[in-house]
Amino acid sequence: MSIKMDDYIATRADVRTYLEHALAENARATADEAGLYASVKAALLASNARLVAHYYVDPMLQKLAEETGGVVADSLEMARFGARCESPELIVAGVSFMGETAKIPSPEKRVWMPTLDATCSLDLGCPVDAFSDWCDAHPDRTVVVYANTSAAVKARADWVVTSSIAIDVVDWLDQRGEKILWAPDRYLGRYVQRQTGADMVLWDSACVVHEEFRMHDLAKLRAVYPEAGLLVHPESPEEMVDAADAVGSTSQLIRAAVDLPHPAFIVATDKGIFYKMQQAVPNKRLIEAPTRGAGGTCQSCAHCPWMAMNGLQGLSRLLRDWPVACEVQVDPEIGQQAVRSLNRMLEFTRSQRP
Ligand code: SF4
Repeated sequence: MSIKMDDYIATRADVRTYLEHALAENARATADEAGLYASVKAALLASNARLVAHYYVDPMLQKLAEETGGVVADSLEMARFGARCESPELIVAGVSFMGETAKIPSPEKRVWMPTLDATCSLDLGCPVDAFSDWCDAHPDRTVVVYANTSAAVKARADWVVTSSIAIDVVDWLDQRGEKILWAPDRYLGRYVQRQTGADMVLWDSACVVHEEFRMHDLAKLRAVYPEAGLLVHPESPEEMVDAADAVGSTSQLIRAAVDLPHPAFIVATDKGIFYKMQQAVPNKRLIEAPTRGAGGTCQSCAHCPWMAMNGLQGLSRLLRDWPVACEVQVDPEIGQQAVRSLNRMLEFTRSQRP
């Protein structure tokens, strides 16, 4: 069923309203709620921990990370920050694989999350036993996994990559004549395959957020905003990627918003990114890309349900009680195996060679 154009304007166009609402929430809140942000900030500053927040979490948490010496970043930069940060404790606002990715290279650090129940459809869609069987069935291939996987899957892999570095790594491996086994995101895998021409066999899983972006309503939105460029995360369906003015990871999309001349952008990724993207381009208009359920039937509606589990209340509880259930644990043996594939990526980013 198609929806009315007015509905697009109402539901997809006004990112500033979303941001203003999110950021003004504190100011409009009751005295108790307004005090929550201040008390969490004070507790964070008084602790030994630094807040490492992903671009997709609540803008209030991103703001908190900015104001307390933490970082707001994509998963690659989150991993780098965690490894170089001198603080003995990290609080990761994101999803569980990000907590594990912070813990693996720094096992001596204590890593916490507001909730360990925040997972990822790609991680869930790649259970380690099935993945290991798949690897065993392709012994001639180099195993490259996306960061959005469990520590156990990383431990079985030769390489870990994020979306910002996947093309560079696979291209380098391809030039060495290596054939690739790729998991878990089929859309990103297909995109990397097309960009590099590498011989790749792909696992079949997808991100519930990006898979919902759809072309059929995009044309209508572009008719309303003909001046807008299209920014697309490569976890999105291929036809979206093909129509894009820029394709890339979260940090690459923010950079593209700055570099491209368009005065407006339709953005196909989680809407949490608008907080940092609007900071980077304060005078440009940002518009949510249509999902398959712009009429109200979308599953994620351009916001990851697991990223949404991170909030000020949970962070406040964590900083008060430091509950055991919120501390990220990685089996030391798995961690020792996973750190090799993870460090290859971190080394590659330093030198563009492992
Ligand atoms: S946005 Fe998609 S890839 Fe990212 S954590 Fe959520 S489900 Fe996973």
